[in-house]
Amino acid sequence: MVDLKGQYKKIQSEINASIKECLKSTSFINGPKVQEFQAGLETYLGAKHVIPCGNGTDALQVAMMGMGLKPGDEVIVPAFTYVATVEVAALLGLNPVMVDVDKDTFNITAEIIEQAINVHTQAIVPVHLFGQCTNMEPLLKIAEKYNLKIIEDNAQSIGAEYTFDDGKQVKSGTIGDVGCISFYPSKNLGAYGDGGAMCTNDDDLADQLRRIANHGQSEKYMHKYIGVNSRLDAIQAAILNVKLQYLDEYTAARQAVADYYDKAFEDVDHLQIPVRMEQSTHVFHQYTLIVSDGHRDALKTFLYEHGVPSMIYYPLTVSDQEAFRGRGRKVGDLPTSKALCESVLSLPIHTEMTDNQLDYIAETVHAYFKENA
Ligand SMILES: *Cc1c(COP(=O)(O)O)cnc(C)c1O
Repeated sequence: MVDLKGQYKKIQSEINASIKECLKSTSFINGPKVQEFQAGLETYLGAKHVIPCGNGTDALQVAMMGMGLKPGDEVIVPAFTYVATVEVAALLGLNPVMVDVDKDTFNITAEIIEQAINVHTQAIVPVHLFGQCTNMEPLLKIAEKYNLKIIEDNAQSIGAEYTFDDGKQVKSGTIGDVGCISFYPSKNLGAYGDGGAMCTNDDDLADQLRRIANHGQSEKYMHKYIGVNSRLDAIQAAILNVKLQYLDEYTAARQAVADYYDKAFEDVDHLQIPVRMEQSTHVFHQYTLIVSDGHRDALKTFLYEHGVPSMIYYPLTVSDQEAFRGRGRKVGDLPTSKALCESVLSLPIHTEMTDNQLDYIAETVHAYFKENA
C-alpha cells in the first residue's frame, strides 16, 4: 500500500544528515529541530500557531481538552472514520454523537450536522477523510448559529486547499478553531515513528494547548490545569523538516496516481471512482473506490491472489465497533456509513509508484470484471 523504503532512499543523505545534527546537539526534547519544524509548518499551512505533539490522537485529545469541554457535552463526529476521533471524546467523558456521512465525499455536511444538534452539543469534529477537506463554509455558519467549536481532524489531508465562495483559499485544518494532524509514517507527511501537531489562529487557545500538552504547566513547576505529556520527538522533527520540503511534490505524485486510476476505472461497471469536490483539492491519502453489487470482497480476494494489495477503510462504523456499542449517541441508522463499510476498497497509492505497477493493478481489476461481469 505504501513504499517508505523507496521514498527514504531518494532523500537518505538529507535525512541522515538532519538526524545526525540532532544527535550531535543532544537536544532531544523540544530544542532547535522542533522549533524549526513548528515554524516551517506554520508557514506551510498559513496558520498563526502550530503546537507539535506526540501523535494525531493526542492532538485530538489535547484539542478537546483545550476547548474546555465538560463531561456529558456532546461532540458530533462522523460514524465513518478512524476510531481515534471518537475514542478521545469517549475517553474524556464527552458524549460522542455519531452521524452519517455524504455518500460522495465520505465527509459530514452541514445538513447532517444540523439534525444532530441539541442543547448539549458543544463541538463538531469534521474528519477530512482520505485527502479531501470537508465542505467547511456551511459548517462554519452552523457553528456560529449554535455557538459550537470546530475541531478539524486533518490527519489524512495535510496540504489540501479549501476554497471559500468568495475565492479565498486556505489549507485544510486551518479553518475551524483548531486542526489536528498526524505524522504517522504512512500519512501524507510521515515521520519515522509517531508524531502529531495542532494548529490554530487563536493566540489564547494556542497558549492553552501548549500548556495542556506540557502537564498543564503555566510556568516551570507551576501546574494550572491537569494536562498530559505529549511532545514531538526531536529526531522525528529532524526527519519532518526534510520531508516537509517535499510535501507538495509528494502530493503531486499521489494526484498523478489518482488521475491514472480515474481514467482506468471511470467506465467500469460496478465501480465508482472518488468524487472530487469543487471546494477542495484532493491530496489522496487514500484512493478509495466504491465497488457495488456485492463485488467488493471477491475483487479484494482476486487482487490479493494476483499480488495486488488493497485495504478496506473502514470495515465497520465506529458505532458498530465492540468498544462503542451502546456508547454515545447514534443519529439515525447511518445508512450511508454502513453501505460504505460494505463497498469501499482502497488501492495502493504512494509517492513511488511506477507505470508498470499502475498498469498491472489496472489490468488486474479489469481482468476481475471480465471474468465476473
Ligand atoms: C491516523 C489518524 C488519526 C490518529 O493519528 P495517530 O498519529 O495515529 O495517533 C486520527 N484520525 C484519523 C482520521 C487518522 O487517519
